[in-house]
Amino acid sequence: MTKHTINLLGTEYVIEDVPKAFKSGYNGKINYVTKTININSNQSIDEQTATFIHEILHFADDYIGTELSEKQVEQLGKVLGTIVSMNRRKLIEYFSIRKEQK
Ligand SMILES: [Zn+2]
Repeated sequence: MTKHTINLLGTEYVIEDVPKAFKSGYNGKINYVTKTININSNQSIDEQTATFIHEILHFADDYIGTELSEKQVEQLGKVLGTIVSMNRRKLIEYFSIRKEQK
């Protein structure tokens, strides 16, 4: 199985699927100590996308120090997740073309 990672401002985070929601009811978790992002893989791909973005927003919020509430992170995550999900193919095309031109 491929190990997926994402570089968050110079730190490599491992993205790990977990087959169910956490006891807390959350579908994702970012751990700043272990440098791991867990995503509940027992969701639709669109829900997993929103969860992933949600966790990245927590990282950004923590990094910038904006102190967003959980509700604000949820709302931003849903909006951005929906935009990404509705344009998934277009975004992949767009970024792969950009990469080739480099
Ligand atoms: Zn959250």
